[in-house]
Amino acid sequence: MKALILEKAGDLSIRDIEIREDLGPFDVRIKIEKVGICGSDVHYFEHGRIGPFVVAAPMVLGHEAGGIVTEVGRKVEGFKAGDRVCMEPGIPDPNSRATQLGIYNLDPNVRFWATPPVHGCLRESVVHPAAFTFRLPDNVSLEEGAMVEPLAIGMHAATKARIAPGDVALVHGAGTIGLVTALAALAGGCSRVLVTDVKQGKLDLMAGIEGIRTINVAHEVLADPVREETRGWGVDIVFECTGADRVILDLFDALRPGGTVVLVGMPIEPAPLDIVKAQSKEATMLTIFRYAHMYPRALALLSSGKIDLKPFITDRFSFEDSIQAFKWATAMPESSVKAIIELP
Ligand code: ZN
Repeated sequence: MKALILEKAGDLSIRDIEIREDLGPFDVRIKIEKVGICGSDVHYFEHGRIGPFVVAAPMVLGHEAGGIVTEVGRKVEGFKAGDRVCMEPGIPDPNSRATQLGIYNLDPNVRFWATPPVHGCLRESVVHPAAFTFRLPDNVSLEEGAMVEPLAIGMHAATKARIAPGDVALVHGAGTIGLVTALAALAGGCSRVLVTDVKQGKLDLMAGIEGIRTINVAHEVLADPVREETRGWGVDIVFECTGADRVILDLFDALRPGGTVVLVGMPIEPAPLDIVKAQSKEATMLTIFRYAHMYPRALALLSSGKIDLKPFITDRFSFEDSIQAFKWATAMPESSVKAIIELP
């Protein structure tokens, strides 16, 4: 089948690849229709590795997908050919201890699309377990289906933060992950979410959302709006979605005493954390890794209209232009959030 293949760092091709995938009794076969370009795909393209994961052999990119079921395994219930679906890209070992504990995202043997050596989904079709495949509500498009993957990360962050109704949150970073985290925090009960970035174009895209206040920290001192919004007390929750040293170093400044910090962004190198500042506020610090059990909730929120991702699907490319799309994504304009590749 035709696929977008990362041959090695900096070298993409569209070519035929043979991927043997037998349809097991609990699997569905899915024709891929829309795939989102993720920061991690772009990072593999540019650098050939993310931390310990190294691209040592040609690998199909892509892990954010919406598609259409074409074939259903003989023991699968609840799916039929023609169903519009999205898929969780990480398949854990069902017998692992992590899976038994309900933390299947932490299974050391999880097979995650486009994480070497596992092929991604920028190809004609995939075979996928029905248990990790989700039917799209009628009012949710295939493109929005592809956006469920990043949304699930924001949902997981908001869930772990244990938001109380009326909380004020601060989200550092207005990229895709900052955006979905801010939207999930609002949907989870925050009365107000402050979002920081240094790129005005990204902030402008979020400025119109009810409940969100954007702060360009290149021109504004963060302490001022935080004081205004919280009467000097500090925010209840800080979501760190940049992975940037200078944000992490001051991470606890805006937090209220007894507040919660969720580390969502992944720093490329070990980051400087001011532990005494955290201690003096008895900050609760949480981390997340991907997500577990979030797709049904994410789809429910999209379908309800409480979260609208459509304005953030800003760019579209055809599959034949996907190499060009990746080159474009390495220097994405500020006014772009999510680019979608459309398969034929
Ligand atoms: Zn992604």
